[in-house]
Amino acid sequence: MSQAPKKGGIFQAYLNFNVLYKILIGLVIGAIAGVILAASGVTALPAWISMFGTIFTRLLKMIIIPMIVGSLVVGAASVSPATVGKVGIRVVIIYLLTSACGVIIGLLMANIFQPHAVLEAIEVAEKVPATTDQTIWNIIANIIPTSVLSALVNETVLQVIFFCLVFGLCLSYLKASTDERLKTIAQTTYNVFDCLTEVMMKVVSGIMQYAPIGVAVLICEVFAKNGPQVAGSLVIVVVACFLGYAIHIVLVYGGLLKVFGIKIGKFFKEARTPFITAFVTRSSNGTLPTTMTAAENLGIDKEVYAFSLPLGATINMDGTAIYQGVCAFFLVMTCYNRTLTFGEMGMIVLLATLASIGTAGVPGAGAIMLAMVMAGINLPIEAGTTLALAYAMILGIDALLDMGRTALNVTGDLTCTACIAKKLGLLKKDSVLK
Ligand code: ASP
Repeated sequence: MSQAPKKGGIFQAYLNFNVLYKILIGLVIGAIAGVILAASGVTALPAWISMFGTIFTRLLKMIIIPMIVGSLVVGAASVSPATVGKVGIRVVIIYLLTSACGVIIGLLMANIFQPHAVLEAIEVAEKVPATTDQTIWNIIANIIPTSVLSALVNETVLQVIFFCLVFGLCLSYLKASTDERLKTIAQTTYNVFDCLTEVMMKVVSGIMQYAPIGVAVLICEVFAKNGPQVAGSLVIVVVACFLGYAIHIVLVYGGLLKVFGIKIGKFFKEARTPFITAFVTRSSNGTLPTTMTAAENLGIDKEVYAFSLPLGATINMDGTAIYQGVCAFFLVMTCYNRTLTFGEMGMIVLLATLASIGTAGVPGAGAIMLAMVMAGINLPIEAGTTLALAYAMILGIDALLDMGRTALNVTGDLTCTACIAKKLGLLKKDSVLK
């Protein structure tokens, strides 16, 4: 809730007010203003007001690449080679597989519900992918950049992801080296990327302070042009996402617990607290102490959870993956009046799974990764396009979607941790075992 400002005037009060509510208020104000404008026959905002929306879209675009670079390098370098052997490989594989299941469920929900808004188009021609020979073999080979700099400059997301993962993994080996020189320089390099990530987090929180204004203007444009009926389409997005979250819990987590011989009832009794904490805080990182306590209560050996839970909070984002699937579909259908092609869906599964590694466990990070996923399927979100407006609609309800996806992210970390611990004979409490 809002806190009374300690000092300063209206600006300080604005900063102190919860961002979540601010964005929702921005959404509502923008929608109301848009409906009023539409009713009075005004369908376009003056350029100087539109500019505030454009600034917001450009700010979001600005942070994508530095954000991926920082968090992917740090994420990959956090996997210590010593732990990788026993627990690590298994944990990383199960994390990636469950995230891939998440995107598939998200895409399935999207294909069933077909969430989309009917917006008056701004751009007519659809962007055509730069390469025409897009066979699966080309796509795989193209993941490897021939020039890291050009991958960064051209924002070729998959290539950037690939290089950052390789770089981060090699860095983790150097960090654990017995050679003092290598160890020191690796730790220093790690600290630089860690710092980059932290700085980007600060930039994101600054942009989020501006988000209510940006969202209000962009939503106002949407409603002024298209009328109030577009709100209904957002309800469908929310329903599709939350149903996806629920199905993932039942099928994927329920299935895993059953297969690994863990009592589902007992597990969820303990998982309840981190689930609720994550729902409220919208941060996997912030929920970490609660998730660790739940792991302890479940009888999971510290050797496993002390490694896998912090790693999971950084790289395992099943809820975010579902959200990416649903929202990417919404964006494409809204802007191009078509569903996703199989190639695009395959690419989204790959990108969103990898994006989950690069999504920081903080509120709203998934929404920025959504912009990255769109860039990855050759549909970058450019200011002043229908895509930017549709994206703003998603951002307007992001807080709500984030609550559900974070709760799922955290539950996923705990489920995978319990399963791996059971497999290694490191889940000690008999009452939890079948
Ligand atoms: N808030 C999410 C988390 O902390 C990340 C996201 O925005 O998807 O897990």
